[in-house]
Amino acid sequence: MTSESPLPTTAQTALRSEFGSNVQTNVPLAPHTTFRVGGTADWYVAARSANQLEAAVRIARNHDISWHLLGTGANVIVGDHGVRGLVIHNRARHTAIDRETHRLSAESGAILYPDLIETAVSAGLSGLEHYVGIPSTVGGALWQNLHFLSPPPERERTVFLEEVVHSAEVLTEEETRKTVGVEYFDFDYDYSILHDRDDIVLSATFQLEPGDRERMREIMDANLQWRAERHPPLDTEPSVGSIFKKIEGIGAGRLIDECGLKGTKIGGAMITHRHANIFVNADGATAADVCALIEHARDAVERETGYRLETEIDFVGEFAPPTDTTPTTVPKDPDLVSAEERAQRAG
Ligand SMILES: Cc1cc2nc3c(=O)[nH]c(=O)nc-3n(C[C@H](O)[C@H](O)[C@H](O)COP(=O)(O)OP(=O)(O)OC[C@H]3O[C@@H](n4cnc5c(N)ncnc54)[C@H](O)[C@@H]3O)c2cc1C
Repeated sequence: MTSESPLPTTAQTALRSEFGSNVQTNVPLAPHTTFRVGGTADWYVAARSANQLEAAVRIARNHDISWHLLGTGANVIVGDHGVRGLVIHNRARHTAIDRETHRLSAESGAILYPDLIETAVSAGLSGLEHYVGIPSTVGGALWQNLHFLSPPPERERTVFLEEVVHSAEVLTEEETRKTVGVEYFDFDYDYSILHDRDDIVLSATFQLEPGDRERMREIMDANLQWRAERHPPLDTEPSVGSIFKKIEGIGAGRLIDECGLKGTKIGGAMITHRHANIFVNADGATAADVCALIEHARDAVERETGYRLETEIDFVGEFAPPTDTTPTTVPKDPDLVSAEERAQRAG
């Protein structure tokens, strides 16, 4: 579908008075997501400050327009038939450090890596360096309670973003702009209250600690190398990271691997040989290909192991049925060492 759905004239006027000629229609969203699939936004604005973000959301709500807030698009799959209504792209990226309190504040469109992490580490402030290499805005990271197995070399526990969140400014679903503490978010694994409430994070403040710059750089280098060895590179093999939620003590990737599904391809979407829980856009995939591959893997794992996998990503917009759901298998490059093989070798 290419023609934009009508937006009430009053909404168009309000958007144009806030965003001028930057209100766009029929904007392809694939380039704004890390999976690089999906259709167009009927209406699109990029918010370049927290105030603009608030204004866009208020306009959408006041005019009863359906809308979606997009960060770096690293945890969403956009449907091939695109998104009706308004897509608000969060480009509000202002940051500020308070050296006395060791707090780093950032508008919610600030990019975690390199922008925020480099700012913190250069100022000798520790707490965010674990998340190097993960594509995310501040808002997306709070939505998800960003997490990673760090610090190296032990990697004995998962660190969660909630550990360094001090407070945030939100626009609540009741239209109140207010500052809330970390407890407001009810953080859990892959969860924050943002999954259940239509609140928007406008900015966040992180409580960091003075740290040893050399140790922070060591963590960053080691974590980047860990990722490079196990994850497909985003520029040549676009993905959304892990597709399915972890099953405690078992691992979604391990189940997919045990079912022999690595290399399975439907249309242009493939389960990478590098990591069984990462699906890649191998070759002009559509969102329908990705969804068909997700269903194929989920059904096969349930049939063979009894576990029903749950996705950890957000599906946005309108989805089309796949044209061909016949799976094929792409053989593994014999030189490639997968994440699962590395884990087995490490014992
Ligand atoms: C290669 C790769 C590796 C990854 N590795 C990890 C990893 O190690 N650990 C991990 O936890 N995740 C990982 N991810 C997933 C992803 O990076 C995170 O989920 C990230 O936080 C998504 O942020 P985003 O800005 O792209 O959000 P988007 O994908 O744009 O949005 C995700 C959701 O958050 C909502 N949202 C965004 N901004 C706001 C806001 N300001 N207020 C309220 N809601 C908002 C959106 O509406 C949407 O529902 C990985 C992804 C990729 C592609």
